[in-house]
Amino acid sequence: MATQASIPGTIPVYEDYARCVHCGLCLNHCPTYRLWQLEADSPRGRIRQMILVNEGQMPLSSGFVDHIDKCLDCRSCETACPSGVEYGKLVEHARARIENEYRRPWFARMTRDFVFNRLLPFPERIATAAKLLRLYQRSGLQAVARGTGILKVMGLAERERLLPRIDDKFFFGELGKTFPALGKRRARVVFFAGCIANVAFARLNEATIRVLTANGCDVVVPGDQLCCGALAAHAGVRETARALARKNLKAFATGDCDAIVTNAAGCGSTLKEYDHLFSVDEPEHAAAVTFCSMVRDVTEFLAGLGLSARLKPMAARVTYQDSCHLLHGQKVREAPRQLLRAIPGVEFVELPYADICCGSAGVYNVTQTEASLELLAEKMEYAKKTSAQVIATANPGCLLQLRAGAEIHGTGQEVLHVVELLDRAMGS
Ligand code: SF4
Ligand code: SF4
Repeated sequence: MATQASIPGTIPVYEDYARCVHCGLCLNHCPTYRLWQLEADSPRGRIRQMILVNEGQMPLSSGFVDHIDKCLDCRSCETACPSGVEYGKLVEHARARIENEYRRPWFARMTRDFVFNRLLPFPERIATAAKLLRLYQRSGLQAVARGTGILKVMGLAERERLLPRIDDKFFFGELGKTFPALGKRRARVVFFAGCIANVAFARLNEATIRVLTANGCDVVVPGDQLCCGALAAHAGVRETARALARKNLKAFATGDCDAIVTNAAGCGSTLKEYDHLFSVDEPEHAAAVTFCSMVRDVTEFLAGLGLSARLKPMAARVTYQDSCHLLHGQKVREAPRQLLRAIPGVEFVELPYADICCGSAGVYNVTQTEASLELLAEKMEYAKKTSAQVIATANPGCLLQLRAGAEIHGTGQEVLHVVELLDRAMGS
């Protein structure tokens, strides 16, 4: 099977594809196969199509692009696969090939170029866009747009509901600061703040720092950090992801630390795989391997360290939705559950099919809105059945999606990150 030398970084080889023995054990774990029951939209079917395209037996056609675009990159199939297929690596490579070799329609090309290359890598542009969005949300324009039904006419009603609510104060002002541990110092961590999170999850970032410092951690927030590149890498926009990784490798070289901590599972999964973005003979590869070994999801880090801050009782029934890139990408299942159970008074109840994607999946809810909403509807049905007052999760994207789900389906449930619950239990 030919490899594509034009795509930089670690390239899957024949054995990576051949590991799929067509057993089909992944099929019922795949959200898109569960929705449509189509082999072409299953992990096994997608891998087969990748092989045929790589061998030149099938053209890189719009049909192929459609089946690869419809994949959530949730990696649930990786967890289910007994043969060790690293599906995430394969689909990201297929997307990189599509990016290099397939001409998408004009609007899609422009939008992708704007989001991945001209917006996310630039903090000042994110701040400007967020201020405009905040004006729309606070000036009454949003209420008018929703009330008049204009969004429905334009076919934007569902997408508009998924927009993040922009914070009053951005987190960008905290970059470059160090927050000292409260009480006895137990660890020193470097905090990854995200990109959109700086404007839409500033309160979550602040809560994360409070929880870490209250549990004895010095928290360093590097000033030069940028977007991790996850959205670009997942979309196949590899050069942008590599450029961002290069800058972050420098920004996070802050000397001695116990871990690089993130509260975003989607970012964490990519940060832990920065080494895949560089081939072994590139100078960045060795630094990336060291960097990857230091990255921890905040739940993983806190569960490992052990909570030392006193938690006040909180009478609430809480369920938990796994973030795909925490469970399937990073194989972290127990840590968030352990932290939730540690809060006195919390009645923890498992969410059926918590390991199946909520439909957020990076920009999937914007690019494949219909499928995303179908997955969300099923998710909210199960969430409602738990009778939990709170749905906890561990990724900003999932928070947005589940909050929209609670609103659309009127479940009345609060959706919080695990660290926000810990922060609340600490009395912050
Ligand atoms: S479970 Fe693994 S080996 Fe089996 S069909 Fe799916 S990807 Fe292939
Ligand atoms: S990554 Fe998710 S959506 Fe894509 S094939 Fe695997 S299980 Fe299905």
